Amino acid sequence: MGRPSIDPEMLIRMLLVGYCFGIRSERRLCEEVHLNLAYRWFCRLGLDGDVPDHSTFSKKRHGRFRESDLLRELFDTVLRRCVAEGLVGGEGFAVDASLIKAEANRERGVRGDRGLPAEATSRAIDEYLAVLDDAAFGAATPVIPPFISTADPAARWTGANKGPAFFAYATNYLIDLDHAVIVDVEASTAVRQAEVTAARTMIARVNYKHDLQPKRLAADTAYGSAEMLEWLVNQRRIEPHIPVIDKSERKDGTFSRADFSYDPAADLYRCPSGKELRQYRRAFRADHPDTPPDDTYRYRASKMDCDACALKSRCCPNTPARKVTRSIHEGARDVARDIARTDAYVVSRRERKKVEMLFAHLKRILRMDRLRLRGPCGARDEFLLAATAQNLRKMARLIPVHAVPVPA
Ligand code: SF4
Repeated sequence: MGRPSIDPEMLIRMLLVGYCFGIRSERRLCEEVHLNLAYRWFCRLGLDGDVPDHSTFSKKRHGRFRESDLLRELFDTVLRRCVAEGLVGGEGFAVDASLIKAEANRERGVRGDRGLPAEATSRAIDEYLAVLDDAAFGAATPVIPPFISTADPAARWTGANKGPAFFAYATNYLIDLDHAVIVDVEASTAVRQAEVTAARTMIARVNYKHDLQPKRLAADTAYGSAEMLEWLVNQRRIEPHIPVIDKSERKDGTFSRADFSYDPAADLYRCPSGKELRQYRRAFRADHPDTPPDDTYRYRASKMDCDACALKSRCCPNTPARKVTRSIHEGARDVARDIARTDAYVVSRRERKKVEMLFAHLKRILRMDRLRLRGPCGARDEFLLAATAQNLRKMARLIPVHAVPVPA
């Protein structure tokens, strides 16, 4: 005889109780559902319905949703209800990511350059191998981590929280700024590139699934790369209320790029002494490549101009002539810089703290500072359930009780 089966709906309802009220232990969850009448009512157990044994519950929840999109469907259903109740304005979104510790002992990692032992096998290892080419996991960065967990190799060794390093996943939230409803959630590995990829995935998915397209996106500097800004401005037509990642400022007292003015009509820069910096000073064949291989144009001053210039010691003291670089996405970066000078940007910067508050709530109130499930699928399931629980709690707080129709 095997274990008795559990009604999937009851399983989901019990999980929601656990995530809504921060009951992380499956044993305690089963006890609470057994004793608490409100939980029994929500799980449709009646007064004498049998609550599953915690070991059966644990076994069933670990494998049940791996192959299905049921938890994603549940999240979308709750989001649709939030939209129908007018809790999602759709005008401004914010995006951010937070690290959640993986269910992996930090003392049990193996050296990253040696890789996993050949004899190691587990479901988490299978999942790790399956996402090696995924841009949100294995393909996010070519950098080999110093340590790999044998229990959950897809979890990333990170010291990003400034304390002792640990194995972690990142949960990525895309929220609507009206009431901080989570409009999408995505699991990724704990590196910045993967978090930016996750942000793109969520913006595209929420547009495709729910027809939501924000006018502006608020985010921190991690999302201010030239490629991301280009994607937002020119491909999605979204205003980036995001600080630009800019390494052009010089700290040695010589002129920075901001001291040179760009003339888009003539495609040249003018230096502080009024001379021109051009990409080309002679005509090239028609088939000369237009896009540089490293996505960066180079504008050079004439050596004759610089040799005769009184400002040379403050401009290019160690080179014969000054060179200024410009990303092929500089137009999008300029759009973001212009937005950063507006009052609307100040408002967005204040509003984007709402995502951080959701992460604080997730960790402190829902007690999700550490995952219970292993592997990318486990992280995805847990993040989806937690975000669903947060949206449900928000609905319960914002929708007046008398507005909810009571069945006859
Ligand atoms: S050194 Fe050259 S680029 Fe710099 S200010 Fe003088 S002329 Fe312009």
